[in-house]
Amino acid sequence: MAGTDDREGIEAEYVLETPVVCPHCKAETTSLQVVRMLRTRVNFTSTLPRRGVALVCPACGAVISAELGSI
Ligand SMILES: [Zn+2]
Repeated sequence: MAGTDDREGIEAEYVLETPVVCPHCKAETTSLQVVRMLRTRVNFTSTLPRRGVALVCPACGAVISAELGSI
């Protein structure tokens, strides 16, 4: 992976237009980190996508629910 960011596993970081409070650690943050998810096991009938992303609080590392328009 290219780049100078040494935080392991963090693929990208997005800045929020408005600060939010993490529901887990209660820290106010203006950014969310993005970790890629790859499917490793699936049922034959599953229609779930092969990959996705998890949005993570940069302060505590907890997964936070959110959506991205396009990646
Ligand atoms: Zn947090």
